[in-house]
Amino acid sequence: AAISAADLDTLQVLGHGNGGTVYKVRHKRTSTTYALKLVYGDSDPTVRRQIFREMEILRRTDSPYVVRCHAIFEKPSGDIGIVMEYMDSGTLETLLKAHGTFSEPKLAHVARQVLNGLNYLHTHKIIHRDIKPTNLLVNSNMEVKIADFGVSKIMCRTLDACNSYVGTCAYMSPERFDPDTYGGNYNGYASDIWSLGLTLMELYMGHFPFLPPGQRPDWATLMCAICFGEPPSLPDGVSEEFRSFMECCLQKESGKRWTAAQLLTHPFVCKDPSVSVS
Ligand code: ATP
Ligand code: MG
Repeated sequence: AAISAADLDTLQVLGHGNGGTVYKVRHKRTSTTYALKLVYGDSDPTVRRQIFREMEILRRTDSPYVVRCHAIFEKPSGDIGIVMEYMDSGTLETLLKAHGTFSEPKLAHVARQVLNGLNYLHTHKIIHRDIKPTNLLVNSNMEVKIADFGVSKIMCRTLDACNSYVGTCAYMSPERFDPDTYGGNYNGYASDIWSLGLTLMELYMGHFPFLPPGQRPDWATLMCAICFGEPPSLPDGVSEEFRSFMECCLQKESGKRWTAAQLLTHPFVCKDPSVSVS
């Protein structure tokens, strides 16, 4: 039977997104824990468009690497709820803050799962456009799943709109700022790969790669670094596989970047798939 708002007890707030709030909830009859994203009926049209886009994508997706949606409901008040699987370890950012930087084997484990998720999405003609540590959810089995769909396309319609969302735009690829120079054969799928590369590098280094540790992102500096600078590179001492994998993700020209399917065959992610990570 479909899950409705009346079936759920609210346990706590998990996070506030742009326009909505995510709650940890429990199903009264089955005691199953879920995450509930609630967007209020009186929220502005942009927020409502975003939530409808997210609903549409979650309805279409069915992959162990994409957060599962169990129900969607709309109350008479116009409030919209999305009932999702609950990811009990939070996001990759939560893990970074709680346990520090990721080792190479742990990163390879993360990379493999996100690539499987991106390969699934790209095969289904979905471009995420907002891959970053806070949009990759984790559970206590160290399963990593892609969440939060279709947001940045709306938020980043114009450079001005991006200004107030440096956190998100920081992961944007060069061709999204400057399609003429870096978009040779522009394909939006490659932008997700760039964002994945930056995300993995951040988890390895402990800070956003284009900025020194602790520096507050400044929009203009960041955009210049991304468009005119060299792609960030890893410090000495990493494995050749890891360095090469990063280079395949962080090609400035989108056409030279490997696809998710290609990256899944890269030695960094396909060697030792059974490595255990806590
Ligand atoms: P952000 O700008 O941080 O990406 P947002 O508008 O995209 O915010 P969401 O990412 O959808 O909002 O949700 C906000 C937060 O709620 C997440 O960062 C995460 O901590 C938590 N959250 C979302 N979905 C789940 C889930 N299924 N299980 C556990 N926690 C979740
Ligand atoms: Mg998010």
